[in-house]
Amino acid sequence: MLEQYVTMRDEVAAQLPHAILLFQVGDFYETFGEDAERTARLLGLALTHKSSKDFSTPMAGIPLRTLDGFVEKLLAAGVCVAVADQVEEPGSGLVERKVVQLLTPGTVTEERHLSADENYLAAVATGEGYALSLLDVSTGEFRAAAFHTRLALYDELSRCRAREVLLAPELGSNPALLADFQTRFPVMLSPANFDEAAAQAEIAATLGEIPETLNTAALRRACGAVLGYARLTQQGRLDMVRRVVRFEPGAHMRLSEAAVRALELFHAQSPQGVTLMDILAQTRTAGGRRRLRAWLRSPLLDELSIRSRLDAVEALTRAADLRGGVRSLLYRAHDLERLAARVSTRRAAPREVASLARTLELLPEAEKLLAGQEGTLGHIRDRLAALPEVVTRIRAALVDEPPLRSGEGGLIREGFHAELDDLRAQALSHREWLAALEVSERERTGIGSLKVGFNNVFGYYLEVTSAHLSKVPHDYKQIATLKDRARFTRTDLREREREIARLEAAAGRLEVDVFTELRDSLTAHAEALGEAAGALSELDVLSALAEIAVEAGWVRPQTGSGPLRLTQARHPVVERSAGGKFVPNDAELGAGRHTLLLTGPNMAGKSTYLRTVALCALLHQIGSFVPADHAELPVYDAIHTRIGASDDLAGGRSTFMVEMTELASILHGATSRSLVILDEVGRGTSTLDGLAIAQAALEHLHAAGAHTLFATHYFELTRLELDHPGLVNLHVAAEEDDSVDGKGGLTFYHQVIPGAARQSYGVEVAKLAGLPAPVTARAARLLSALNAQGDEGKLRRELAALDLGRLTPIQALELLHAWQRDLLGETQ
Ligand code: ADP
Repeated sequence: MLEQYVTMRDEVAAQLPHAILLFQVGDFYETFGEDAERTARLLGLALTHKSSKDFSTPMAGIPLRTLDGFVEKLLAAGVCVAVADQVEEPGSGLVERKVVQLLTPGTVTEERHLSADENYLAAVATGEGYALSLLDVSTGEFRAAAFHTRLALYDELSRCRAREVLLAPELGSNPALLADFQTRFPVMLSPANFDEAAAQAEIAATLGEIPETLNTAALRRACGAVLGYARLTQQGRLDMVRRVVRFEPGAHMRLSEAAVRALELFHAQSPQGVTLMDILAQTRTAGGRRRLRAWLRSPLLDELSIRSRLDAVEALTRAADLRGGVRSLLYRAHDLERLAARVSTRRAAPREVASLARTLELLPEAEKLLAGQEGTLGHIRDRLAALPEVVTRIRAALVDEPPLRSGEGGLIREGFHAELDDLRAQALSHREWLAALEVSERERTGIGSLKVGFNNVFGYYLEVTSAHLSKVPHDYKQIATLKDRARFTRTDLREREREIARLEAAAGRLEVDVFTELRDSLTAHAEALGEAAGALSELDVLSALAEIAVEAGWVRPQTGSGPLRLTQARHPVVERSAGGKFVPNDAELGAGRHTLLLTGPNMAGKSTYLRTVALCALLHQIGSFVPADHAELPVYDAIHTRIGASDDLAGGRSTFMVEMTELASILHGATSRSLVILDEVGRGTSTLDGLAIAQAALEHLHAAGAHTLFATHYFELTRLELDHPGLVNLHVAAEEDDSVDGKGGLTFYHQVIPGAARQSYGVEVAKLAGLPAPVTARAARLLSALNAQGDEGKLRRELAALDLGRLTPIQALELLHAWQRDLLGETQ
C-alpha cells in the first residue's frame, strides 16, 4: 500500500509540487512521511508512526467525514491538496485508489470552500513591463492587464486579493524578486506552464482563438499559464471561461494600496472599526456585493460613465416604489453569477439547477419594474431578458425540492419522461402486490399473525410465529429460524423483489441521464445567463447606493472639471458613530486655492476632515451620491494618501521608511488632476528633519498643481501662505478654557475655519490625556523658555544681517517696532 502511496504522491508532485496527498485507508485519509509532519503541524493533529519490521514512517490522518473542514484549513494556509479515494470495495488484495480531486486555494469551486467575494487565481509574466492575468474559476471571469512598473502590478494584485499567484520562471528564479513577491502574496512556484507555444495552444483551446487584445508575448504567457493551471484542477474542463477582458489599469482612477488602507475601504484600522464597505454594503446578493467591491477598487475616470451611474442612482432614489420593488426582489435571488458558471461547466447539482430556475423566475418581474427606464437602468432591463424557456424546461423536468445529490432518486417530476414514468409505475405495482400479500396470505393460511417484512440480508420475507408453524403451506421455503418464529420466502416473492430492484436501479440511472441532459442543455444559454447575472449584480449595487443616499441624506454630486466644492460634508463612517453630534464642514479646492494647509491641535478633527474630502471624491467616481448638502467634484485621476503611521514589520521597514516610501511614490505620481491627502508628514523623524521634508514635499506638490490637503502640527509651515499663491491656511477650531476644574481644559469644535492655528495646544492635549500635573506644568515652563529662545535667536540673526550703512532712520524705527511687536505681541 505504501508503494502505491509513494507512486501516487510522485505523480501528484509532478503536477503540484507542494501539494499534500490525502490517501484513503478505510475510514481515514492518511498522510505519511514529510507530508504527515506538515499536515500534523498545519491541522494540529497527533503524529503517529506506521511501522513494520524494516521501516517506520510518520503518519497522520483524519476521519473521512471531516474532510471538508480540514481541506478548508489547508487551503486557507495556502496549501494545495490532492484527495485519493478507494475506488473499489476492499477485497483481499491491494485496493485500487485514484486521485479524485486536486484542490488549490485559487481554483476551488465548491461553494463551501469559496469566499463570497472574489476568488482570483493570478499569473505574472514579464516582457516589456509586467503582464498579469486573473481568473475567477467560480464565475469564469477572466481578465488581463499590462503594467509598466512592479508597484503598479502590486497595487492591482493586492486590490484583487489574489488567493494564489503563479510566477513565470524569469521571476521565480530571481531570489530577491521572489522574496519580494512572497512577503506580499501567496505565491505558487513552478507548477504552471509559461511556455509561449503552450500558452497559445491553451488560449486557443479555451477561447477558440487568440484574442487580439493579448498583443504581447507576456500577456499570452500569463493567460496561458492561468488557464492551464486551472484546467488541471478542473478535470480538464474550463467551459465557464468564454472571453478575456483586457483591462487598462489607467482607465480607472489610481488608488494605491496605501489609500485603500488609509481610507479604510475594506479593512478598519482598529479591530472593531467600521469600513466604508460596511456602510455601503446594503446589497442583497453575493454578486452585488462582489460588484460593489470591484467598483470601490476601481473608481471610474470617464465623466459619461460616472454620470450614467449617477442617473441610475438618482432615478432609484426618486422612485421609492421602484427601489423597494427591486430590493425585495433581489432578496429572493440566488447567486446567479456562480450558478451560471456552474451550469456552463456542467457541474451544477440538482438543487443548484432548481435555484437557478427560482432566480430566473424573478427576471420578468424585474423587467416589469424597470419598464420605461432609460440609460443604465434601461440597459440593465434589456440584459435581464427573461429566458422563459429555460425556466419552463427546468420546472417541467425537476421536482421543486430536489435531493442534494443526483444519485438519490426523486429528482425528475412525474409526467416528464414516459419511460421513467413507466419504470416507476411497474415498480409501484410490484410494491402494491407486496403490500397486499400480507392480507391475502393471512386469509389463505388462516395465520392471523403472519407478517411480510424486509431486511438487508434476506430482502422480503414472510414471518410466522412458532405456534402456527404447522399451518405453513408447502410453497413456503424456510430461510431463517429465530427463537420464537421463522422466516420464509417463496419463488414469486423473490422474483418480485428482484424486479423491484431492477426497475428502481433502471429508474435511478434514467433519472441521472435525464437530469444530465437537462443540465447540459442549459449550457446553450450560458451567454445570456452570464449577461443576466451581471445585470442583476449591477442593479443590486445601484439600488444599494440609492438606499444609502436616501437613508443617510446624501446628495448627487455635480460632475465637473473645475473646482471641488463641498458644502456641509460629513465623514460617512465617523458620522454614523458620532450619534448626531457630527459637525459638517465645507471644503473648496481649485484655482487660487489648490493647496490647503490645515493646522490645529491633536484630536481636533484634522484627519477626519481630510478623509471626508477624499471619500466624497471616491464615492463620486464610483457613481454614488456623497454625504454633503451640496457637492461639485472634478474627476480625479488618482487619490493619493499618506495618513497615519504603520510599521511594515514583516517587510522589516521602520515607520519612517514606510512613510518616506509612500511619500516618494506620491511625489512621483501626483499630477495636476490628482487629489493628495497628507497627514502629519515627517512625524517619524526628528523635528527639524521632519519639518524640512514636510516643507519640501508641500512645495513640490504645490508646484505640481495637485489638489492637496496637508494636515500638520508644524506651525512654521503656515508662513508659506505669504509667498505661495494658491496655498491657503485653514485650522480646526479649539478653545482653551481655564475655568474647567481650574486645571485648564480644551474644547474641540471640529469646525474648519480660515487662517492658521495660533498654537498647537500640545500641552493641553497632554493634560486631557491625564499626564501627571507636575509633568504638564514643567512642560509648559519648558515650552515658554523654548519659545523665548526661538524669538531671541531670530532677533539675533536679523540684527546680524542688517546693513546699517543703508538703513534710513524711518526703516530703523519700523524694524524696532516690528521686533517689539513680535516679542510682546503674543502676550499683549
Ligand atoms: P486629528 O487628526 O486632528 O488628531 P481626528 O480627525 O483623528 O483628529 O479626530 C479625532 C476624533 O474627533 C475623531 O475620532 C472623532 O471622533 C472626532 N471628530 C473628528 N471630526 C469630527 C467632526 N467633524 N464632528 C464630530 N466629531 C469629530
